[in-house]
Amino acid sequence: MIPYGRQHITDADVAAVVEALRSDWITQGPAIPRFEQALAARVGAAHGVAVANATAALHIACLALDLGPGDRLWTSPNTFVASANCGLYCGATVDFVDIDPRSYNMSVPALEARLAAAQANGTLPKVVVPVHFAGQSCDMAAIHALGQRYGFRIIEDASHAVGGSYLGQPVGACRYSDITVFSFHPVKIITTAEGGMAMTNDPMLAARLERLRSHGITRDAGLMESSPDGPWDYQQIELGYNYRLTDLQAALGHSQLSQLESSVARRHAIAARYDAELADLPLITPWQSPDAHSALHLYPVQLDPARTALTRRALFDGLRAAGIGVNVHYIPVHTQPHYRRLGFSRGQFPVAEAYYANAVSLPMFPTLTEAEQGTVIAALRHLLA
Ligand SMILES: *Cc1c(COP(=O)(O)O)cnc(C)c1O
Repeated sequence: MIPYGRQHITDADVAAVVEALRSDWITQGPAIPRFEQALAARVGAAHGVAVANATAALHIACLALDLGPGDRLWTSPNTFVASANCGLYCGATVDFVDIDPRSYNMSVPALEARLAAAQANGTLPKVVVPVHFAGQSCDMAAIHALGQRYGFRIIEDASHAVGGSYLGQPVGACRYSDITVFSFHPVKIITTAEGGMAMTNDPMLAARLERLRSHGITRDAGLMESSPDGPWDYQQIELGYNYRLTDLQAALGHSQLSQLESSVARRHAIAARYDAELADLPLITPWQSPDAHSALHLYPVQLDPARTALTRRALFDGLRAAGIGVNVHYIPVHTQPHYRRLGFSRGQFPVAEAYYANAVSLPMFPTLTEAEQGTVIAALRHLLA
């Protein structure tokens, strides 16, 4: 089976992990700040805080922005459930803003309309989480301008987008947001097996994120609420978690950074071939915004029902039967049973639902061979031409 995504682990990656395993620290050692500083420098952020996974990063990002009961978090329905769950973890109310039919990212006009209505009835969000779907940045300048006008904070869910850029700056520079979150799950652009990082330019937010990832404990005497009992003292000054990454994982992540650019470049070459060789089929291939250079985590195509009678189910089953591990991104979050119990229903975010109804993600990963991609294209032609 050709998967839709997979990790690329090199001999250098293996050597880096083995070296960390034989060192004095296998967690909370020097590999963590080395990985944080290297990625922060790569994306042009002042700080990076490495955590156990991107879900944990989203959770403590929300906490660091003081999201709590009575507050609202808005995100895209076209995302993995974690982008919304982080709000629920904090006791906040979660809502969604429909997507743009071309980029599949949060629609700025829809956001603007919802904000105007929310202002009128006093239900403005405290935090908005734009998701850079498939690795392509949202229109962050416009979202940031709305944030200034309506007073919300911004967490970019860039789980798909490390290695991408927007208006000439790397995603993660936080030019238009408070915090940007990356995921290092194996299907994402670079991996630490499980892992994530929260980037920020605000030293206070960085310190808070560091504290929240480790139980809410500080060893900084300046932050302690009473004078330290001695040099051993630490004080828990708020409720945090154990969301730490290990040194083994950080060593892997640091080593993986060397393939960040080549991975994104190879993904663009794969996308260019799909674009060219699928152009005459009844498929809508992903639109690339002139404002962004996508990291191309995914290559989602939509069946065009106006041009074919084949159903998405038949296309999916046909590709799977041909040994191609296609997937579907994403089941709109508001249609999940947990969210339906919170009061959401089908039909509420029609653009995301219509996109989902026809979407299939084709194999997209840097070690996909020319021959394997040929197999995918031939199977699509066989089913659709
Ligand atoms: C993968 C993903 C996450 C969660 O990442 P983990 O590192 O697995 O916790 C969150 N948001 C989006 C959009 C993702 O694709």
